[in-house]
Amino acid sequence: MELFSSIQGEGLLVGLRQIFLRFHGCNLACVYCDTERVSPPAHCTMEGTPGRRDFLHVENPVSIERVMSHVSGWQSGWPGIHHSISITGGEPLLSHEILLEWLPELRTLLPIYLETNGVLSTELSRLIDHIDHISMDIKLPSTSGCTDLWTHHLNFLRIAVRKNTFVKAVINDETEDWEIIRACEIIGEVDGKIPLILQPVTLSDGKVGVAPLKVLELQEIACGYLEDVRIIPQTHKFMGQQ
Ligand code: SF4
Repeated sequence: MELFSSIQGEGLLVGLRQIFLRFHGCNLACVYCDTERVSPPAHCTMEGTPGRRDFLHVENPVSIERVMSHVSGWQSGWPGIHHSISITGGEPLLSHEILLEWLPELRTLLPIYLETNGVLSTELSRLIDHIDHISMDIKLPSTSGCTDLWTHHLNFLRIAVRKNTFVKAVINDETEDWEIIRACEIIGEVDGKIPLILQPVTLSDGKVGVAPLKVLELQEIACGYLEDVRIIPQTHKFMGQQ
């Protein structure tokens, strides 16, 4: 759907500059989702100059040769500014057949960072050797509206742990203690050193939508189970970035 350069606004690599490759479609329907549910787009929106929003519209499907030439041009024209390529969506693992072809080539240019909802473990197992960093969600029922994904998350994390992986859970004022405990138990069952990022939900006006004390209380609960629990809101929203 899109290729552009921006700042990573969430999670453990927050603040680093990345090239974002956004894929169409998702297998979930979270209530807070800000991704438009549209049919596969006829055109891919590709930024001409990194971060300058001078978009071109390239007919889909875009070839790997076109993407490689674009990203290589950025690498030679603006050396050193990008930390990695963020493969995002939607849920990018729905495009695993394409990624199986693309990731080995893209990874010759920059490390690969996967942003995923953390349930498609079979697809991940096919791609894991071509990925460096994984930002994996655990979907809490109170915020996402998704229920009963716990076993899927556990199976996914068992594979993801082979890479530099952290888990992200969106929280709000309705998030209950048992949800945080359940998420921590899943992480602890795999490796208690995996970082957990508690991400306060962002309201439509860009502000954080959780009471400060609630955030602290949920962190205190999680710290009883895990070594590394951080509160990081969606920082790119504060700056009006994509
Ligand atoms: S997993 Fe992400 S893209 Fe999919 S519905 Fe949830 S928030 Fe939206």
